[in-house]
Amino acid sequence: MKHYVINGGGMVGAAAALALSRAGNRVTVVDAQAQPAPGEHWDLRISSVNQNHWQWLLELGVGETIDWHKVQPYQQLSVTTQTGDELSFSAADADLEQLGVMVENNSLQAALWQCAEADSRIRLTAATRIEQFHLTQQRLQLSGGETLDYDVLIGADGAQSAVARAAAIGYRGWDYGQRCLLANVKLQRPIAATTWEVFRPQGPYALLPLGDSEACLIDYRSNSDIKALSQNADTLQRALQETFAAHIGDFELLRYASFALQRKHALRYHRGETLVLMGDAAHTIHPLAGQGVNLGFADVRCYLACDGDVGRYQRERARDVQRTMRAMDLIHWGFRSQNPLCQLGLKAAFRGLSSTWLKQQVIDFAMQKVE
Ligand SMILES: Cc1cc2nc3c(=O)[nH]c(=O)nc-3n(C[C@H](O)[C@H](O)[C@H](O)COP(=O)(O)OP(=O)(O)OC[C@H]3O[C@@H](n4cnc5c(N)ncnc54)[C@H](O)[C@@H]3O)c2cc1C
Repeated sequence: MKHYVINGGGMVGAAAALALSRAGNRVTVVDAQAQPAPGEHWDLRISSVNQNHWQWLLELGVGETIDWHKVQPYQQLSVTTQTGDELSFSAADADLEQLGVMVENNSLQAALWQCAEADSRIRLTAATRIEQFHLTQQRLQLSGGETLDYDVLIGADGAQSAVARAAAIGYRGWDYGQRCLLANVKLQRPIAATTWEVFRPQGPYALLPLGDSEACLIDYRSNSDIKALSQNADTLQRALQETFAAHIGDFELLRYASFALQRKHALRYHRGETLVLMGDAAHTIHPLAGQGVNLGFADVRCYLACDGDVGRYQRERARDVQRTMRAMDLIHWGFRSQNPLCQLGLKAAFRGLSSTWLKQQVIDFAMQKVE
């Protein structure tokens, strides 16, 4: 039995704690924030979790603890280009009951924490930080003064990972110069349980349905556009109406916020066998295809499948993450391009992708199946 310390009990760190405990290890989770406490209404931070990883999370026990009001299954996903070509992927294309779920980040994290609390091999320490890293001695000092010895330290502490910093692991990446605006709205008429995305030159806009009467509207634009639009709620409501009313009718703006878009990839995923990075601590990607936390879950599953072979873990995960990052960039730049050749290429690709076999390949890629 090894003792793992996981810095960061977000969705990835908390899932890693459960999976490592199920494999017979002792785990201590350290998180700087207080214990997650979801509110009554849908928060803005929502993730699409693909069916492959959702099934795995259910096997870890989240089905027993999650607030199912904050889980919205989806069966269909459609994409429309600026020239009006449309492509839909449905669960039936992949012989699945659903493609995945939209789940509130806070609720998923809280459900994982509740499972962890019931597990005698896991100890959760909220509102605590690692004050000192003694990596050679495999020893940590926590903010409360406690000293912790470990066999393996996992950095699942997000894009500003303190573990990566302590291990002097650098990153390669860039800022896309865009922000993603998220707005939860109350609908005046019901809409289909379909998630869709429309591409236009300034960046895509998309919708995630949240039950019968709410939806999350997503609008990607330049930093300056988002700054101008979100100066006050009235200006933003008008801009969102212009974009979305044709699709969903009238709506009332409930809450909104925007997030910077970055691409960041750790130069290493581990330092020896005793320090490993997972989730956003290892990679942050453009969220336009909802792959970020899914990549983090794939990290956890791959690490366990590699059974301590950290070299293999790094090779396999870096390869998959790079592939996904390239795909995101292709979508980001390709769909915005006004170049006629690029438009023609997209048209041809869309025609090709209407084939069931190719759709199956795309869905398999998006499901990030772990061998
Ligand atoms: C707008 C937007 C939309 C997105 N939509 C999707 C989507 O639909 N599907 C998808 O798969 N992904 C999506 N993502 C990406 C997804 O949100 C992230 O990949 C995911 O949250 C990463 O989880 P994580 O647990 O690795 O890190 P985080 O969620 O960042 O969690 C890190 C945890 O570590 C803790 N922590 C941080 N620093 C310290 C420290 N120094 N000491 C101790 N604890 C610390 C934090 O409190 C937190 O609990 C989206 C991202 C954005 C910006």
